[in-house]
Amino acid sequence: MNNKSNNVINEVSLNGATASNRNGLWVAVLIMLLGVVLFSLVSNSSVHSEVPLINKKAKLHIAPTATDNIQKIMYLADSEWQSIKHSNFGISPKPHWFKVQIPSNTAKDQRLIEVSFANLDFVDVWFVDQTHEQPVILSQFKSGDDFAFMQREIAHDQFIFAIPDSASTLSLYLRVETQGLINVPIKLWAEEEYIQFIASHRVFIGIFYGFMAAMALINLFLFVTSRNISTLLYAGYVICLAVTLASSQGIAYRFLWPQSTLFQQYATLFFASSMVFFSSSFTARLLDIKNDFHLLYQFYKAIRVVIVVYIVCIFMLPFSVVVSILAPMLLIIMFVIFSSTIYIAFKGNSIAKYLLAAWCSLSFSGLFVLVDSVGWISLKLEPSYLMMVGSAIATLFMALGLAMRFNAQRIAAKQAYIKAGENKHKAMQAKKELMRLQIETKDRLEYAVGERTYELEIAIRELNEANHELERKTAIDALTGVANRRLYDKKVLAEARRSRREKTPLAIAMIDIDDFKSVNDTYGHQCGDEALKHFTGILKECIKRPSDTICRYGGEEFVVILPNTDLEGAAVLMERVRAMTEASQLNCEGEVIKFTVSIGVATRVISADSESELLNAFADKLLYKAKEAGRNQVMSAVF
Ligand code: GH3
Ligand code: MG
Ligand code: MG
Repeated sequence: MNNKSNNVINEVSLNGATASNRNGLWVAVLIMLLGVVLFSLVSNSSVHSEVPLINKKAKLHIAPTATDNIQKIMYLADSEWQSIKHSNFGISPKPHWFKVQIPSNTAKDQRLIEVSFANLDFVDVWFVDQTHEQPVILSQFKSGDDFAFMQREIAHDQFIFAIPDSASTLSLYLRVETQGLINVPIKLWAEEEYIQFIASHRVFIGIFYGFMAAMALINLFLFVTSRNISTLLYAGYVICLAVTLASSQGIAYRFLWPQSTLFQQYATLFFASSMVFFSSSFTARLLDIKNDFHLLYQFYKAIRVVIVVYIVCIFMLPFSVVVSILAPMLLIIMFVIFSSTIYIAFKGNSIAKYLLAAWCSLSFSGLFVLVDSVGWISLKLEPSYLMMVGSAIATLFMALGLAMRFNAQRIAAKQAYIKAGENKHKAMQAKKELMRLQIETKDRLEYAVGERTYELEIAIRELNEANHELERKTAIDALTGVANRRLYDKKVLAEARRSRREKTPLAIAMIDIDDFKSVNDTYGHQCGDEALKHFTGILKECIKRPSDTICRYGGEEFVVILPNTDLEGAAVLMERVRAMTEASQLNCEGEVIKFTVSIGVATRVISADSESELLNAFADKLLYKAKEAGRNQVMSAVF
């Protein structure tokens, strides 16, 4: 029974777990399909107006000091300029000068130069006509996020500069100086193309940040209602990731902190490292690393401490130092997270697989963008789009992991509930069994007690019967079978009381066989005994009332109690006894034996207990008188 129900529980949980694993797999496939669709969508939109990067046409001059100026740069020999193939020049405090030839504008369209990396401190631009003997600066702009957003010539997320009208080829001089990463993607736009681009760009941006905001809000609400820390960490990760991207795209500076140049400088570092903090904590919590992998958990704790220390350092140490620490720190952290997630995934944890997918999506998109910016590959789409698609997919995978975790907890809770129910059932069963045993024991005990009581009753009854028999035996004279002296004493007392109560006369007759000694002597004791029995028979024949009692008083003496009998009646009765005795004869051992009796009869209505003894003595006295008067006669008197 127990085994069976256990099996049922296991089946329930197993079915639940496998079903949810299968569902999780389907969702994972869906997310990947969505990734492919999004990717093709953004890359198609880019192909429509190909990314107008002109970095490959640009030349670079790295100025040794910051004291350079355009007047000097314009006259630099060609040998001072080097060709470039990419946009990313790493971290360097030195001013980077770029020079690009902008072909003459035949269509007479307005054209724009865009530097599409928002985290540059100083971006200075000069448009110079060098077709004359002396170069002529047609227009110049100062920008960069070291200036408040409001000071920008064109209020745009990215650095945008209008190219002045010119019939001839122009030279663009671009000076970039920044404490962080020198990434300078230079784009040349025709206004019409740019309008088309920006229209679809806004849609993608809107969808992406809308999605991120929704995910963050849903999980914040979930946290408020469920107090589940995982949802808070997830929301923290989503917010930090979104703000990091928004900061690198210039959107954050434009919309969130347009006045704060200081915060703009630290924002990317701050939010990127916070994102790693939240996502690593989220990973640790979702994979239950604290409970299942103690050693690994120490690493995760270390990661948390390192990031918190780093975040403090961002605002304390020189910017160039914290910037240069970021990449190696992230590399180590990513290594730990990746290897541990792979390890746990290989151990069969499906949540780890989804987290791994998330980490892959996030880091591969970041890696592609990085590799593209240093010129190793050439992406055919906006790098920020790749970043957004990668982030969205990662966010979805993490949400899937969170959902799987919730489901696992739900199944565990259900299992615990079933188990608790089963235990309760067991407890009730045990209680019932106990009660049954108690009742059974009680019944058995009652039965045993009943049985013993019954046996005892029988024993008592038998004892009583034995007692009665004993009493009867002790009250009966063995030879004659009439009452003995003991019984007489009791009986005479009882009858005396009755006489006193009922005021009736009580008669007592004392009888003694005459010359019995000679009977014994002549015929022997055997015949003496026979004579006693013979005389008892005569007494029984004469005395018929059931209330009368015949007793052997001792030897050959008898006493008869005659309740409610007056003197006359008693005397007549005793006379009959005397006469019958005289007339009768006994044959013993071939001899004929004859004998007589003397009788003393006394009556009295008893008025006190002691009178019975006196009555007895009086009757005895009368008996002696009868003996003295010559024997074989009845002497009677009222006492
Ligand atoms: P009396 O007329 O004066 O009564 O003379 P008695 O011989 O009857 O008187 P006594 O009291 O001197 O003798 C009684 C005798 O009765 C003595 C004894 O041998 C005899 N006797 C008493 N009890 C029994 C008995 O149970 N069986 C027999 N066989 N004899 C008994
Ligand atoms: Mg005698
Ligand atoms: Mg006698």
